[in-house]
Amino acid sequence: MAPITKHYDYLVIGGGSGGLASARRAAGRYGIKAAIIEGSGRLGGTCVNVGCVPKKIMWQAADLRKRLDDAKNYGLDIGEPPKIDWFNFVEKREAYIRRLNGIYERNLVKDNVDYISGWARFSGDKGEKKVEVSLLSGETAYYTADHILIAAGGYATIPDSIPGANYGTTSDGFFALKTQPKRVAVVGAGYIGVELAGVFNGLGSETHFFIRGETVLRHFDPIVQDTITNTYIKHGVKLHKKSKPFEKVVKLPSGALQITVEDENGKQEIEVDSLIWAIGRGPNTAGLKLDIPGIKTNGVGQVESDEFQNTNIPGVYALGDVIGWVELTPVAIAAGRRLSDRLFGGPQFKDRKLDYTNIPTVVFSHPEVGTIGLTEPEARKQYGDYKIKVYNSKFIGMYYSVFDKQEEKEQTIYKLIVAGEEEKVVGMHIIGDASAEILQGFGVAIKMGATKADFDNCVAIHPTSAEELVTLV
Ligand SMILES: Cc1cc2nc3c(=O)[nH]c(=O)nc-3n(C[C@H](O)[C@H](O)[C@H](O)COP(=O)(O)OP(=O)(O)OC[C@H]3O[C@@H](n4cnc5c(N)ncnc54)[C@H](O)[C@@H]3O)c2cc1C
Repeated sequence: MAPITKHYDYLVIGGGSGGLASARRAAGRYGIKAAIIEGSGRLGGTCVNVGCVPKKIMWQAADLRKRLDDAKNYGLDIGEPPKIDWFNFVEKREAYIRRLNGIYERNLVKDNVDYISGWARFSGDKGEKKVEVSLLSGETAYYTADHILIAAGGYATIPDSIPGANYGTTSDGFFALKTQPKRVAVVGAGYIGVELAGVFNGLGSETHFFIRGETVLRHFDPIVQDTITNTYIKHGVKLHKKSKPFEKVVKLPSGALQITVEDENGKQEIEVDSLIWAIGRGPNTAGLKLDIPGIKTNGVGQVESDEFQNTNIPGVYALGDVIGWVELTPVAIAAGRRLSDRLFGGPQFKDRKLDYTNIPTVVFSHPEVGTIGLTEPEARKQYGDYKIKVYNSKFIGMYYSVFDKQEEKEQTIYKLIVAGEEEKVVGMHIIGDASAEILQGFGVAIKMGATKADFDNCVAIHPTSAEELVTLV
């Protein structure tokens, strides 16, 4: 049978956050003949299937478990909080994700985007915009396009230098766990490691958390690093600071994993039921044959793109995790929509692009973290010490006012960094209940260039924790 060949105005590789947003904007708003190629057999990409969505659901379970513990302080003594029925809960979570997969597929139909189910790679000659797809049906198809977007996302890595490392898994494997490990090791101080360790600990697994340095979340403001590190220890996470790369991982006859590791307390052997690597992600570019058209990548394989998402080949663009600038779903979506506006939206959008500064981001740790703008060290470096002023607030939120035990009360910590005489807000870092929800609105203000006086001019909402942010002295 002759291979299928078709031409599109816009061909998108990757049916994840960025690709879906861009293809739908192109076809749905501008009537462009667009198609999206997705190899995994389900739409939504990392965020929907093995990222933000299932992660937040697991975080909610862990958070609820803690609230059940807290309930006794409100006269609602339910005794020992119940253990999670992991298997059935995971089934429910996955059923929800399957519903989302279906919604995404129907949205493509609604917006007239063709859905090509298969793995794509470039083919043809140098500079040519041609793609070969191994369809999941078993056939091979070829597509050409005026414009091609690479939105292929990334994958979680496992170290290749540690004997037995493959007995462990990644965040993908975390979401595939059908039973709750009694004992677990999580490796990696970034936000994914912090979130997964928090979920395990919150749901009652003995959680060993291995980090290379003294603190978690090393790219965040020092106040975030210190607070989350100390709170995790307080909550019972077995934090292994200054951990060297594991010497080896051995699978025992019982099925458990034995990790040999040296941390700040010396060399030890630790037995766990699951090992989760959260040590970083790489771009999904190895199979794309980018060398055929001659698309440039950097040293770690990420596609090189400019601020307009152009690659070095005219008519080929890249965004989202595959370029590795800011690896967040809303960033990929925003970049994807703006790219389609620029390409297909007419002259008024000819300069449209995403501004990658002041992107609010949160960590679903326990407690939550919200952050936007510069950290204090970054602000001091950028503006000079004498131009920077820092406002801090540390308090016990009203939720804890009726708690019996002092040690069960969590601190809320807010930090506002302002620059110059006008006291423009250049960084905000908040730790405490509901920080993720609180940050979004403040993000708008900071993106608009709010000053400390603007914050102060907003009348407080009482009684809340967030009101502290507009009454800082
Ligand atoms: C555990 C975890 C938690 C996260 N939590 C958050 C969060 O709370 N908030 C947040 O904003 N972000 C979060 N992220 C990050 C977020 O998921 C990503 O930034 C986002 O999904 C990137 O979108 P993308 O479009 O670049 O790639 P993806 O969404 O990964 O989509 C890429 C798609 O391309 C497909 N593909 C790859 N190669 C090919 C090919 N050759 N042919 C066809 N299809 C291909 C893949 O199968 C995939 O479906 C999390 C990530 C992880 C791993």
